[in-house]
Amino acid sequence: MSERRYLVKEMFGPTLQGEGAHTGRAVVFLRFAACNLACTGCDTDFDPEGARRMSSDEIVGRLRELDAGNTARVVVTGGEPTLQWDAPLSEAIRAAGFRVHMESNGTRELAGQVDWLTVSPKPQHHPSSVTLATEIAPDELKVIVDDTVDERVLDGYAARYRCEHYFLQPWMDDRYAHHLARTIALIHARPQWRLSLQTHKIVGVP
Ligand code: SF4
Repeated sequence: MSERRYLVKEMFGPTLQGEGAHTGRAVVFLRFAACNLACTGCDTDFDPEGARRMSSDEIVGRLRELDAGNTARVVVTGGEPTLQWDAPLSEAIRAAGFRVHMESNGTRELAGQVDWLTVSPKPQHHPSSVTLATEIAPDELKVIVDDTVDERVLDGYAARYRCEHYFLQPWMDDRYAHHLARTIALIHARPQWRLSLQTHKIVGVP
């Protein structure tokens, strides 16, 4: 058993996975605090202020309470979850019967096993010094589209990651209609990519 205490921003569920290949699937969420990047326009609250230090036992116990044994699937996100994810926590959660779906910005290697890995970069908002981790093998790649995303960057990602699912997702800000139109145009030109929407926002679940 790990003695480490992980910095947890929030845990909630059951809810629905809103994005990507598992859209609409019942899940519970584990959101860690802190991120190694500071992307422009980031709308996720990962501020360590207000976060709680929890042991792996406490995290597993809370997941069981939230899930009541029904979904057996947890989305682990952040901030950047790989900052805190390690083998003991992975083993504790998976031993409790949960499949782990992680959503990472792709800049760090994983120190513990997961069952599904989404790499979701916002390359247009990353500092130029940011490099992607070399050893990770995502199951899906999900790139957020706004006016500034570079088409060559998309092609670079598609060449770099041989994963099963490639998603483009329009940035859901006050220019959503514009970003959606651009996303669709990009998909028409690159049919390897598919549309992902933030359906949890559309249907109004957390
Ligand atoms: S990597 Fe994700 S969570 Fe971190 S700052 Fe960028 S958009 Fe926000």
